[in-house]
Amino acid sequence: MSANNQNQAPQKRVIKVKKFQTRSGQLVELRWTEISVFKNNQLTKEEYLEVVPPLTDNRIPDSAADCRECCVCIQAYHKDSVFECPLCGKSTCKSPKYRDVITVEGKGEIVVCAACADEAKAGPVKKLWRELWKLGD
Ligand SMILES: [Zn+2]
Ligand SMILES: [Zn+2]
Repeated sequence: MSANNQNQAPQKRVIKVKKFQTRSGQLVELRWTEISVFKNNQLTKEEYLEVVPPLTDNRIPDSAADCRECCVCIQAYHKDSVFECPLCGKSTCKSPKYRDVITVEGKGEIVVCAACADEAKAGPVKKLWRELWKLGD
């Protein structure tokens, strides 16, 4: 290591903050943060997204639209880590006990949340299919 190879502590700068509320009213903050590292007389800037408090699955979303809250355990997750019920649109974490399979005329067997499954088993499905379901993936 040469004498001019002195590295400085990285500088952290928050560029943009976006707050949003989950269904239950929890506040989640998305912080776009820039880190400047001065290394070997070279300034490198890196941008990353910080979630405060972090999502339960520790994933980093691209935006607030990627965040979901499990309606059972009230924890925030990345949308890829939750199951979204095609009937009520509520999200639950992917634990099998929060889901159930029902049979719908013309649709066959579909997976819905436990609450919708209970309702469906008590009588015919009255809820409207969500647009999301019709569009698919
Ligand atoms: Zn949950
Ligand atoms: Zn449901």
